[in-house]
Amino acid sequence: MSERNTYNAVIIGAGVIGCAIALDLARRGLRTLNVDRGPAPGHGSTSWSAAIIRPYYSTIDGTALAYEAHFAWQNWADYLGYRPDSALHYNECGCLVLEAAENRQLAGTRSIMREVGVPFTDVSTSELPEWLPGADLSQFSPARRIDDPEFGQTAGDPITGAMFCPTGGYISDPQLATAQIAGAVERAGGHFRFNDTVLAIHQSAGKITGLTCDKSGLIHTPIVINAAGPASRWVNELSGAHKPEHISTRPLRQEVAYVPMPQAASGPGLRFVLTDADCGIYMRPEQSGHLLIGSLEPACDILEYLDTEDFEASLSDQWTNQVWRAALRFPDLGIPNTAQGFAALYDVSEDWIPVYDKSDLGGYFTAIGTSGNQFKNAPLVGGLMGHLIESVMNGADHDRSPLQYRLPVTGRDVGLGAFSRLRPINRASSFSVLG
Ligand SMILES: Cc1cc2nc3c(=O)[nH]c(=O)nc-3n(C[C@H](O)[C@H](O)[C@H](O)COP(=O)(O)OP(=O)(O)OC[C@H]3O[C@@H](n4cnc5c(N)ncnc54)[C@H](O)[C@@H]3O)c2cc1C
Repeated sequence: MSERNTYNAVIIGAGVIGCAIALDLARRGLRTLNVDRGPAPGHGSTSWSAAIIRPYYSTIDGTALAYEAHFAWQNWADYLGYRPDSALHYNECGCLVLEAAENRQLAGTRSIMREVGVPFTDVSTSELPEWLPGADLSQFSPARRIDDPEFGQTAGDPITGAMFCPTGGYISDPQLATAQIAGAVERAGGHFRFNDTVLAIHQSAGKITGLTCDKSGLIHTPIVINAAGPASRWVNELSGAHKPEHISTRPLRQEVAYVPMPQAASGPGLRFVLTDADCGIYMRPEQSGHLLIGSLEPACDILEYLDTEDFEASLSDQWTNQVWRAALRFPDLGIPNTAQGFAALYDVSEDWIPVYDKSDLGGYFTAIGTSGNQFKNAPLVGGLMGHLIESVMNGADHDRSPLQYRLPVTGRDVGLGAFSRLRPINRASSFSVLG
């Protein structure tokens, strides 16, 4: 066997998740290879990420992971183990979450945050105008489409309050973050091959033996990790490990809008991340004086799930609906004649919670179904997957006795059964990008 094509573990994908897994495995002493059909790290769906760091999720484990992630981004050079030449900016502006019928006035969220120990402050109705100068603080729920005659109607009641989480914000450049993780992987001895596509996954007697790539040909390895983002479904098909009763994944097309930031007398109309379930959108400041607007998948929208990775790149009426919903909240929002923004794919599971798991095929693991909400968690996903892979390869029966992963800063144990392919669909989920 040629040394060049023999590795302890091969990770399919060099997005933020695949690179973070490689970093942990390389630090555990494994000779790793990331294979990616793209030209460089983070050129898949990661490159489109809004890169919001926020600690509120619908489950305790999801919240604990996301809160912990804040510390990894805060101490980025420590995580990388080197100081990169270009600075990655974590804008720690915090996140404001409006109460809405859709989030049951945040009652469940607040109790999970208390349980996990995530700091937050309550913002009253009378304080909200200071936080959102120039905003219309009426309730518009439920979110509607702009061709609905009742679009923009309000019962006249104001938003009942909000929650502000200081441990959050957004990362300036998700692709740069991924390139910097890849730099750390190389420093730890890991390898990359780009512009190379995985075409086949090989097994013998129920165990992984290797894979075949478009350019590299046959590669020998006892461990393969599917970190293929929106292509995860097809990589699972190559492995033959996926069964109909398992949690599955499929690509969802989503649009993100950029519009000029509305201005208040005191400056930009929005200085932090805003989760506005009342209007069915999330927003954050974007570079060059823009406002970024994404969707919270309100019930009135038909979601565009795809059976292929090919998708329409031009912006559609989803863009228009998102922008008009933002204009309900910020009446001074200038709506440009030309749509600015982009379309991209999420890799969505049935309950919008990822599958970080082993499989029924020995040596085949998945870190998939990231459902538009796992960029922030990547440094921890590396750690928990490394722990899972090492334990399972050493004989742990994770399906019967799910492993725990100790979060390095907060010291909390996260039950990895929450991310199992065998879990029942988690009904506590928001069934949206909020996870
Ligand atoms: C528009 C948008 C906004 C988002 N906003 C946020 C946010 O605000 N906060 C947050 O936490 N998360 C957010 N996310 C989610 C987050 O960005 C993703 O969860 C994360 O980037 C997924 O990383 P990944 O490495 O799994 O996938 P990817 O980055 O897609 O990487 C997968 C890689 O696998 C490669 N690949 C696939 N198939 C093969 C094959 N057969 N052979 C070789 N290579 C292959 C691809 O080329 C790709 O580079 C957002 C996502 C999108 C799309």
